[in-house]
Amino acid sequence: MTQYIFVTGGVVSSLGKGLTSAAIGTLLESHGLKIAIQKFDPYINVDPGTMSPFQHGEVYVTRDGAETDLDLGHYERFTNADLSRHSNYTTGKVYSSVIQRERRGDYLGKTVQVIPHITDEIKDCISRIASSDIDIVISEIGGTVGDIESLPFLEALRQFGHEQGRDNVLFIHLTLLPYLKASGEIKTKPTQHSVGKLREIGILPDILVCRTEKDVEVEAQDKIALFCNVPRELVFIEKDVELSIYELPLLLRQQGMDQKILEHFGRPAGSGNIDRWIEVVDSLRSPRSEVEIAIVGKYIELTDSYKSIYEALTHGGIANNARVRFRRVQAEDLADGGAEIALGGVDGVLVPGGFGERGLEGKIAAIKYARESRTPFLGICYGMHAAVIEFAQNVLGIEEANSTEVCSDTSYPVIALLDEQEGISDKGGTMRLGAYPCTITLNSTSRKEYGLEKVDERHRHRYEFNNDYRDQFEAKGLKVTGTSPDGSLVEIVEVEDHPWFVACQFHPEFQSKPIDAHPLFKGLVGASLERKAHRE
Ligand code: GLN
Repeated sequence: MTQYIFVTGGVVSSLGKGLTSAAIGTLLESHGLKIAIQKFDPYINVDPGTMSPFQHGEVYVTRDGAETDLDLGHYERFTNADLSRHSNYTTGKVYSSVIQRERRGDYLGKTVQVIPHITDEIKDCISRIASSDIDIVISEIGGTVGDIESLPFLEALRQFGHEQGRDNVLFIHLTLLPYLKASGEIKTKPTQHSVGKLREIGILPDILVCRTEKDVEVEAQDKIALFCNVPRELVFIEKDVELSIYELPLLLRQQGMDQKILEHFGRPAGSGNIDRWIEVVDSLRSPRSEVEIAIVGKYIELTDSYKSIYEALTHGGIANNARVRFRRVQAEDLADGGAEIALGGVDGVLVPGGFGERGLEGKIAAIKYARESRTPFLGICYGMHAAVIEFAQNVLGIEEANSTEVCSDTSYPVIALLDEQEGISDKGGTMRLGAYPCTITLNSTSRKEYGLEKVDERHRHRYEFNNDYRDQFEAKGLKVTGTSPDGSLVEIVEVEDHPWFVACQFHPEFQSKPIDAHPLFKGLVGASLERKAHRE
């Protein structure tokens, strides 16, 4: 029988509900439980695919091609849960299915309302991921208790809890304990208010997780327990982790969070083995060496915009027992000969995905630098497009070579619109999305890193390598080393005469985990370490 954990947040947003939900998933899996995990986002966009990374951070793509919230990336990095389009629902997505049904006549004769129609749809979204082999579903509700837009979700959870019975549902509420410097105290009042707000809606939290920057005295914990009506042993303290987010499962384990959840659900404990996570943290704490990798992008000031990239680089470091330092480089700053200075001394260069003209010239300059200085390079999606354009301009000597994304009437469209994209004008969910197979040729860097001939990787793009130029590129040393199984779509290119230069159409960062680094990130960090050793 499936049981349910609902994670809400109070006081402020950005408390790390996603990370906490993910870490709880890690702990439950360590007891042999099979979990499913999902997020509800109260905004009206049908999915975050149409939002700018400035607004929303990275768009995370699932295997089945859904464009989702970046918290789903944490879920995949921390757990083995299968994520799909059912793992992320927004208000917009919920409403659009209810409205579609209304138009079809499914509610004929009735007034369609928030309660019960929208709340019923939300409850269905929860049930949809609770197949018979799932022990525990974890559903995280985005936003903050008290927001107008999260009300229908909370009402749906209340009903769901009522229907399933208290023993089968567990409400976890995350709050903030702010520290007031002037009085030198941790304040519990905002937490009391946000729990009060939840109670007004009819939800009594079973567990409180209190985020804080400082240690919390026993008296404060007692006070929270008493005034929030939660047993003292179910008030958990989540102090900011010093080293890494991957400490979080260990922090919650120390306080016995998994034991308490199992007790609530009447489930026996399993082995609870989290040795691999302990190893991850140990490796982060005392790495044997260090490398510096430049990330050249457009959204460099916001770490959330390239979340999975930074995480995957860190994983590549863990796999090589090295700390990866990031040099965040604003692509636009490199345009006019700035690459040498901005990238001088780095051990590796990464150009991530992106859209549009701004910053492209700088990305090309960064790639030229990496190619000529024999610095290990990984280009991802738009980063691969930029690598192909760079090679065309500087090695093939075709100065006007470009992508039709940037210059629709270029006479040398080395990157051009995918056939399947012709005539599509809708912006939401219309790219080539999700996992597709890729066949890798022998004697290539990618084949060596993967150790496999066939891989599945996730995509999110409209433009692709133009096969008309394939022979010209290959003749001059830009080799196509990965394609779709029928050979028609270029998935990976490599510069032949270079220690480590790989550019791929897909997004390897979405499949990297701290306990299982993606081969290309492990390879990039490994090659960067070699380069560093060589130079020293
Ligand atoms: N803008 C490019 C395209 O649409 C690359 C997309 C990306 O980097 N995710 O094909």
